Amino acid sequence: MNKLNVSIVGGDLRFVRLAQILCQKGINVSVYGLCHPDLPKEARVCDSLSEIKDCPFIIGPIPFSKDGKCIYTPMCNSYVSIEQFFLVAANSFVLGSVLNPNMRKLFEKYHVKYCDIFDMDEIAILNAIPTAEGAIQYAMQNSEITLHNSKCLVLGYGRCGKLLAYKLHALGANVSVEARSTTDLSFISTYGYRPIPLDDLKLYLHEFDFIFNTIPVKFLDASFIDLFNPEVVYIELASTPGGIDIEYCQNKGIHHVPAPSLPGIVSPKTAADILYQCLLINLRNQGAIL
Ligand code: NAP
Repeated sequence: MNKLNVSIVGGDLRFVRLAQILCQKGINVSVYGLCHPDLPKEARVCDSLSEIKDCPFIIGPIPFSKDGKCIYTPMCNSYVSIEQFFLVAANSFVLGSVLNPNMRKLFEKYHVKYCDIFDMDEIAILNAIPTAEGAIQYAMQNSEITLHNSKCLVLGYGRCGKLLAYKLHALGANVSVEARSTTDLSFISTYGYRPIPLDDLKLYLHEFDFIFNTIPVKFLDASFIDLFNPEVVYIELASTPGGIDIEYCQNKGIHHVPAPSLPGIVSPKTAADILYQCLLINLRNQGAIL
């Protein structure tokens, strides 16, 4: 492992913790677009993006980009344009995340090999644990009632939805879960939550103290929002643009809580461990380690 070179471009605190882990493991680490006093002294902090050219492995931030134009660098003032990034990453394998179809087309256009972290179930499921804990933390911070005995709705029963429903139930909340597949609806009732088919959602929306959205499609328009309990706390877990008409929420005075990048905010060390596992799997898949 001593000769491995890995670059980190952009990212939040979890990427600083990842740099620490990689340096501890004896991996040569270069970073660009990430500034923090905890970056290990062994890491090479680059002044320009061109310094990572030809690095075999590059880890990009989560999400890779928020606007489709530049790489997400919340801890640094540098503006890293995506086009510029692709020019230096031509010979690299890139770990990205939340890559939409347009972004995937760009990777292909520039012939850059890549993997989306969230396409790896084994990683996304682990990542759902700090996400669910963070969602619960945000729910507690944004309300004056306990989750115990509260009425919670989880929208979506994928990786985040499953973990979140499980943890809310364990805290004594009355948990309802929306899903569109009959298999998911059966599992939801099997685990002791109330199943709500997507088509029936409007019948139940008025009941909830908390709504947690994990559906990555903006589908909650005025016709849904008008049915919300006015006191509800709506927590948005899905990536940009989220599941709801935010402007309409604001006009109606609905308490909308954006909750992006929770693992990096609430548990950066755990999140970095998960990223390290992800990197190891990809290094093995690419034949860089046994
Ligand atoms: P996932 O496993 O793919 O689950 C997505 C859920 O949304 C599934 O239940 C899926 O239903 C449902 N869904 C998708 N499209 C739908 C549509 N058009 N109508 C109704 N339901 C639909 O994804 P995940 O890993 O749970 O992640 C969920 C979202 O959270 C993503 O946007 C992800 O990027 C984001 N995320 C955020 C954080 C954070 O810190 N905030 C952390 C991790 C992930 P089907 O199974 O029927 O398709």
